[in-house]
Amino acid sequence: MSKVVLASRNQKKIVEVRRILAEVGSTIELLGLDDLDIDVEDVPETGATFMENALIKARSVVEQTGFAALADDSGLVVDALNGMPGVLSARWAGRHGDDDANLELVINQISDVPDERRGGGFVCAVALVRPGGVVIESEGIVRGRLLREPAGENGFGYDPIFVPDGYTVTTAQMSAAEKDSLSHRGRALRALAAQL
Ligand code: IMP
Repeated sequence: MSKVVLASRNQKKIVEVRRILAEVGSTIELLGLDDLDIDVEDVPETGATFMENALIKARSVVEQTGFAALADDSGLVVDALNGMPGVLSARWAGRHGDDDANLELVINQISDVPDERRGGGFVCAVALVRPGGVVIESEGIVRGRLLREPAGENGFGYDPIFVPDGYTVTTAQMSAAEKDSLSHRGRALRALAAQL
């Protein structure tokens, strides 16, 4: 089993990525940054695209630890906002990771947008970088539409307003397994695992 470090300290994300990889029979042993004895410094996510940010994070962890590293970068793209918040999804309202404020801001920004133009999607880029420099890249997208009011308690971030195409409920109203089966992260990770 090969050891791979996930460039994240977010326990929920580590559990989610482990679950998705295990489901497709991957033999990767996934460690989080906090599972290492090495003090890994965070790098600023300065990329213009999701993939650039995933590569920045994965390369930095490889350089600092010597282990292969997996990193993801994801976000919401809103058609009526010309693809924003995009790579700024986590800090859209100004403070990094303030999910409630980010959600409220997007709801208000598109409050006057009519139903037929409320499309959007979640995008996830994942990159696996090995110490020798070999890189595997993968991207997953799920398209849907954005509600005017939040619905559901599960998930995080923008899940309460996102209804995937073909569904009538938000991803915050789905079980973790159901969301994994259609999510941008699920799609990106399954495609990456298939390339290993
Ligand atoms: P990161 O890739 O962990 O930096 O996440 C970026 C931001 O995108 C998060 O803070 C959320 O606001 C948003 N986001 C990414 N994936 C999801 C998701 O599956 N549901 C809801 N929001 C998400």
